[in-house]
Amino acid sequence: MSARHISEHPVIIVGAGIGGLTLAHALLVRGIDVRILESAPALEPVGAGIQIPPNAVKVLRALNLETTVTKRAFRPTAIEARMGESGRRVFDIPLADQAVSRWGAPYLHIHRADYITALREALPDGVLYLGARVQAYKQNPNAVTVTLTNGETFEGHTLIGADGIRSTIRTQMLGADTPRFTGNVAWRAVVPMAALGDHAPRPTACAWFGKGRHAVTYRLGADGTHANFVGVVERDDWQDEGWSLEGQKSDALADFDGWHPTITHLIKSADTLHKWALFDRDPLMKWTDQRVALMGDAAHPMLPFLAQGAAMAVEDAYVLAQGIANGRPLMEFQTQRLARTSKVQAASRANMGLFHKRSRLSQLATYGPMWVAGHVAPTLVHRRMDWLYGHDVTA
Ligand SMILES: Cc1cc2nc3c(=O)[nH]c(=O)nc-3n(C[C@H](O)[C@H](O)[C@H](O)COP(=O)(O)OP(=O)(O)OC[C@H]3O[C@@H](n4cnc5c(N)ncnc54)[C@H](O)[C@@H]3O)c2cc1C
Repeated sequence: MSARHISEHPVIIVGAGIGGLTLAHALLVRGIDVRILESAPALEPVGAGIQIPPNAVKVLRALNLETTVTKRAFRPTAIEARMGESGRRVFDIPLADQAVSRWGAPYLHIHRADYITALREALPDGVLYLGARVQAYKQNPNAVTVTLTNGETFEGHTLIGADGIRSTIRTQMLGADTPRFTGNVAWRAVVPMAALGDHAPRPTACAWFGKGRHAVTYRLGADGTHANFVGVVERDDWQDEGWSLEGQKSDALADFDGWHPTITHLIKSADTLHKWALFDRDPLMKWTDQRVALMGDAAHPMLPFLAQGAAMAVEDAYVLAQGIANGRPLMEFQTQRLARTSKVQAASRANMGLFHKRSRLSQLATYGPMWVAGHVAPTLVHRRMDWLYGHDVTA
């Protein structure tokens, strides 16, 4: 067993997801040495589309990453909501220029693999250690040491668990438990626009509402060359998760039987459909243990129904790096972030009820006022999102 003292005072980050990579940038721009320990032997191009809302783009801008991310991303013209079966529009609110003028940054769609590549390519050499699975940590008043599953050890000044919903660091800090299955399974696919003909989704971020299910469609790539499909269904007979688990096309078609051709055609045209059981947790009251802190999904996993999970990790990264650079106790990071991430966790869960109305009456009572607001006072719809997209942790 060898101890590798990689620098006098590095910050050790466990996990090279969107959160861990952004944190590395946020520390490096402040002149703080970092090492990222990632269990995967390579950062594979896995996953599907991800939405980057303005509150996250503002962090990327402050870290000089906006250009490299934006050049790989699509800018939707509007946020739309439609009924899943009929395709009838509930509302359609302009987004392209309005996101910048109202919330200070564009709204973007990107393939997760392109996002990770952009963040990774901008890192200096020697920061990222792949194939490094962290098993445990121990600490004393001066340092923290992590041990990998191969016995190797790394010593640093601070340790950040950015290791996702099943975080090893979290388990050691708080004890073993399992995240909560939310009763939802997500289908995901990316399909070339050229394969979709007249049924291609519009260049918007569109949520399609249905009974006990919903779908989301949007375009990917700087020129919108691909369409992204997410279809969420309430069911409790399947609880596996992972970016690469495949499902049967016939099952996805059965889940969206009778839906608008935009949705069914996307499913039929997909080469591969991935299937992912959705988990979350109630807000955690403890994210820190002296020299160790949790961030991103390790601290506050959420349903993806507000498209904010990665955005919260990006906001965490900025706030955490600022505190570390200023020599503040890690405990302050939790105090700064807990109220906002808890609110976003709760709002994401609440959207499940909003999107999945089962009876005609409840659909009318919910989507009717949305239709009216979208037509009579579209700025009301924008204003309802100010707390989320207008937030600027870099201000
Ligand atoms: C269907 C779906 C759609 C989504 N859409 C959006 C969206 O549009 N917008 C949005 O903002 N968010 C979205 N999210 C949420 C988003 O994907 C997550 O919130 C985000 O990926 C969390 O990032 P993270 O860096 O905290 O964790 P992760 O991305 O989970 O990264 C954790 C990393 O840690 C590594 N790791 C784990 N254990 C160890 C260990 N012991 N040692 C070393 N490394 C380890 C893992 O290999 C991984 O690379 C979506 C999620 C799902 C499921």
